[in-house]
Amino acid sequence: MPAQIIDGKALAQAIREGIAEEVRLLEKDTGIKPGLAAVLVGEDPASAVYVRNKKIACEKAGLYPQEHRLPASTTQETLLKLIQQLNADARIHGILVQLPLPPGMDSQAILQAVSPEKDVDGFHPVNVGRLVGGDPVFIPCTPKGVIQMIDSTGQDITGKRAVVIGRSNIVGKPVAMLLLHRHATVTICHSRTKDLPAVVREADIVIAAIGKPLFVTTDMVKEGAIVIDVGINRLADGKLVGDVDFDRVKERAGWITPVPGGVGPMTIAMLLQNTLESAKRTAGK
Ligand code: NAD
Repeated sequence: MPAQIIDGKALAQAIREGIAEEVRLLEKDTGIKPGLAAVLVGEDPASAVYVRNKKIACEKAGLYPQEHRLPASTTQETLLKLIQQLNADARIHGILVQLPLPPGMDSQAILQAVSPEKDVDGFHPVNVGRLVGGDPVFIPCTPKGVIQMIDSTGQDITGKRAVVIGRSNIVGKPVAMLLLHRHATVTICHSRTKDLPAVVREADIVIAAIGKPLFVTTDMVKEGAIVIDVGINRLADGKLVGDVDFDRVKERAGWITPVPGGVGPMTIAMLLQNTLESAKRTAGK
């Protein structure tokens, strides 16, 4: 039987509607409107699209968006000054520095300058530590969305074999940690894993976060598995595909996410959710 498609677009839409209602109530009760500042340095076209989409999503959900576009020639000092201003700005509850930063900028220094209390991406070392310790304040958006997509299948994560392919700080590692906290038995695969297909075949839950088109093929997937495709890859003909060979793997998996329309929309919904949660904390709620 073909897999059930986990419709990230529909799921994200429902979450965004819930957020819009909560934003309305928060403002009515406390006068606080959740504010998100997005900082974009340079002219990377994909980053510009991401930032624009995040701004539109903020507006639609009734949040207060601020956009800061700086030229690629911006010095690290100027960027740090802007972040300090945003840290001190009471209208702002979330600060997002769009990655990648231009070459020459020290990304770690920039991410560490963001106040941990406004770090809606969850990249500050304090928030990474809180996540590893099992008491997170901000959960990184993509991993948070991945878990909600798995939950939408109604399957219990406890005791399942989960295999995460990719060990990046923004996706692979945090998603593995979240699955561990939900009592899955977790394996992380990466570019030096030996016989990766054999490892992935054991998985009840597969998370692909590699950045290689159609990397996960049918022969790697256990019948009935939940397959979450984080990858976004543009082919030479302009088509957008994930890391999973969706058309074939869907004949074998139990549940699968499409690209586009899967994890991507959920990431933005989680960013709004994190900003709302931050504003609620400010309001003492
Ligand atoms: P990254 O380049 O930082 O990490 C990729 C990981 O894949 C590395 O850990 C590497 O070890 C592993 N890898 C590379 N080649 C491999 C191979 N042959 N076999 C096994 N593992 C291999 O990437 P990232 O930032 O984690 O992003 C991964 C993908 O997810 C990209 O396509 C990115 O565009 C996408 N992404 C999507 C969203 C979203 O919202 N949908 C968010 C973040 C990233």
